[in-house]
Amino acid sequence: MSAEITRQPTADLYDAHVLNNYGRAPITLVRGLGSEVWDDEGKTYLDFTSGIAVSALGHCHPHWVQAVQRQAGELIHASNLFRNPQQGELARRLVQRAGPGRVFFCNSGAEANEGLLKLARLHGVRKSGGVEGQCIKVIGAENAFHGRTFGGMSATPQEKIQGGFRPLLAGFSFGRLNDLQSFADLIDEDTAAIFLETIQGEGGINPATPEFLRGLRKLCTEHNVLLMLDEVQCGIGRTGAFYAFEHADVRPDAIGMAKGLGGGYPMGAIWISETSADLFTPGTHGSTFGGTPLACAAALAVLDVIEREDLLGNVTRLAPAWHAALQAMIDEFPQHLKRLKGAGFMIGLEMTEDALGWVAALRDQGLLAPPAGGNVVRLLPPLNATAAELQRSVDVFRRVLAARG
Ligand SMILES: *Cc1c(COP(=O)(O)O)cnc(C)c1O
Repeated sequence: MSAEITRQPTADLYDAHVLNNYGRAPITLVRGLGSEVWDDEGKTYLDFTSGIAVSALGHCHPHWVQAVQRQAGELIHASNLFRNPQQGELARRLVQRAGPGRVFFCNSGAEANEGLLKLARLHGVRKSGGVEGQCIKVIGAENAFHGRTFGGMSATPQEKIQGGFRPLLAGFSFGRLNDLQSFADLIDEDTAAIFLETIQGEGGINPATPEFLRGLRKLCTEHNVLLMLDEVQCGIGRTGAFYAFEHADVRPDAIGMAKGLGGGYPMGAIWISETSADLFTPGTHGSTFGGTPLACAAALAVLDVIEREDLLGNVTRLAPAWHAALQAMIDEFPQHLKRLKGAGFMIGLEMTEDALGWVAALRDQGLLAPPAGGNVVRLLPPLNATAAELQRSVDVFRRVLAARG
C-alpha cells in the first residue's frame, strides 16, 4: 500500500501537526489485550492507566468487541430525533443502579458536568419562584477537577486549569473537602447546588468521607440545594461499588458519569432524580452524538460484563491484599513514599517529590500509571485485573524504588 511506503514516524507527525496541549509520554501504543498494551517497538506494558479509568474491562474484552462490532453493522447513529432500543435499555439499567430518576446521554465527562451545571441553573430558577439569574450559586470543593469546558473550568479552582481563560462563569465558591462547616458557611438562599467528586481524581485521589457526604446530604435537603456528584472517574465500579457514593449510603440529586461507562467508547451520562428530572423539557438541552446506538451498545456491554463476571466483587475481593502490599512498600521506602489514598482500584500513592519522574521510571520498567495532583502516582487497573497483575504492579514499583535507593 502506498500509504505504508510514505508513512512518517508517528513522533514526527505529532511534532509537526498535533496541537501541543499535552505533556505526552514518548511512546506510541498500537495494541492492547486485557491489562496489557504494546508499543510500536513491541515492548509490553502493564496498563494501570486504563485510558485514565476508561478501559474498565481492560483492552479488547471479547464480549465488548463483539457487541460493538455487531452494532456497527446494524445501526451506528440516527440522532435523538428518534428513539433507539440501546439507549432505552441503558437508561433503564442506570436508573436501576442510581434510583428513581431519568438519564441524559452525552459524550464526555465535561459534557456530563455541563448538564449538571445547567440543571443547577434550572433548579435555581424554580427555587427563586421563576426568577432567572438570581439563584445561581454553586459550591464546589477545593482541589476539584470537573473538566475543560467553561462550566467545568469554573468548577475547577486550579490556576493551571483556569489561567488564561477568564472570565469564567459567575457564582462559584469552594469549601474544603471533608470540612462540612466550610460548605455550610458558604450556603445562602441563592445557592442552587453543591457539586463535587465523590473521590477527587486529578486532584490527587482524595476521597470524600462518608460522614462528610451524609452531612452534605442533610445540608442540601435543609436548604433546597441540589447535591450533584461527579462520578466521572470514581464511578462505574472503580471502588467496588457501582457508584462510589454507595459506600456512604447517601443518594445525590444528580450524578455525572463518563470515563468507564463506555469501556473505551466515548460516552457520558447524567442521572437526575425524579424530583428534578422534569426541569429539563423539550428543547432545553441536547447533544447530536449523545446516546447513539453504538455508544449505548458499548456501555451495555460494560454493564453486562460487570454483572456476569462479578467485577464489583473482583475489586472488593482483590483490593485489600493489593493495598496491603502497597502499604508494605510504603513502609519499606519512606524516603520516597508518604501514603496510600483512595479506594478499591482507584489508588493514589503520595510521593515525597513530584510524580512525573516516577511515572517515567515506572513506564521504562513496563508499568503505565498516570500522575495526579503534583506528588501522586495513580494506579487505575481495569476492574477485571487479576491478583497476579496487581502483584506485578507492586513488583515493578518496588524495583523502581530500589533502583533509586
Ligand atoms: C476526567 C474527568 C472529567 C472530564 O472528563 P472528560 O471526558 O475529559 O471531559 C470530569 N470530572 C472528573 C472527576 C474527571 O475525572
